[in-house]
Amino acid sequence: MPAPVTSPSEFAFELALCAHLEETTDLLPARQLGASVASPGSRIIDVCAVAPGPEFDERTHITPRTIPAAAIESDVGVGHAVFWRDAFDCHPARARRATDRAVDVGFFETERRRGREYVRQATRYPDAWFSRLVGIENKPDLGEPGDLLRQLRLDVSLSLFDEVVLATESYVTGAHLNRIPDVVGIWRFDPETGERDVVREATPLATDATGVEPVDYDSLHTDVAFVTAAEKRTARLKLAERAYGKGWRRYDLPGCGHAGVDSDGRPVCGHFGRVVDPGSECGPDCAAFDPADAPEFDRENLRDTRTDWVADPSGVARRQSGLDRFS
Ligand code: SF4
Repeated sequence: MPAPVTSPSEFAFELALCAHLEETTDLLPARQLGASVASPGSRIIDVCAVAPGPEFDERTHITPRTIPAAAIESDVGVGHAVFWRDAFDCHPARARRATDRAVDVGFFETERRRGREYVRQATRYPDAWFSRLVGIENKPDLGEPGDLLRQLRLDVSLSLFDEVVLATESYVTGAHLNRIPDVVGIWRFDPETGERDVVREATPLATDATGVEPVDYDSLHTDVAFVTAAEKRTARLKLAERAYGKGWRRYDLPGCGHAGVDSDGRPVCGHFGRVVDPGSECGPDCAAFDPADAPEFDRENLRDTRTDWVADPSGVARRQSGLDRFS
């Protein structure tokens, strides 16, 4: 049986913060995304919030899903179709995956010539669709900081995000302020009331300079990798695209008669009367589990209604293909 929650779990805190940002800002929050480059997967940011740029609308027209960065950065252009393999400067298997995915989401159009597949962009990729990436690390209880300082130091020295913020429910003392890198912004957030106080503004980071990523820690020294500005550009594009395609409601709802969703799309349990984490709290190990169909949940519709993300754009590929038939 899940332990009764005396303070909000990190999961519930994170969801409350995402719902709050969605409601009160134009940021598009997404949860749990890889935010390291030299050692992929070693740093997962709790929330990556994307600030729309001047070409945001153009991006929404293409696809609601993630466009692979490899396809965006390939030599596939809008004009002439090219043989797919000639357009990539990476392993053919990766190029193939990126091509298939780009075709699948409607970013590439494809045609066959002499048995070979040629591709071109269905539309120009709007590079300026996002203006800022905000990395948010949640630590509701600063009394149990875990790896917090190491994570924040990595985020600052790598500088993949334009801003890094620590969000907490705890009262922030002077000692905390001294320990947390001074460029990291601090928000005090109450998940019950949705009140957010900016305790300290974040200082913009140098995303266009070489970053330093710690990759291996031992007691005497830390191994680091240098991440070039070009590598960071690609990593930021990947992050922004993943955030755009993923959002923050990617959890499965439990097949339990007590499960439901609140108006924000957060999973709630009628038995315990609170937001629950279906991945860790629900299932046969819960004493109150009551097998049933999972509740209905149209996460795409909810996100479309609440943000500028578009669930079902008319699709540039289909439109352009239609025109091509007459050209
Ligand atoms: S929704 Fe069902 S399984 Fe999940 S915590 Fe509530 S009673 Fe337990």
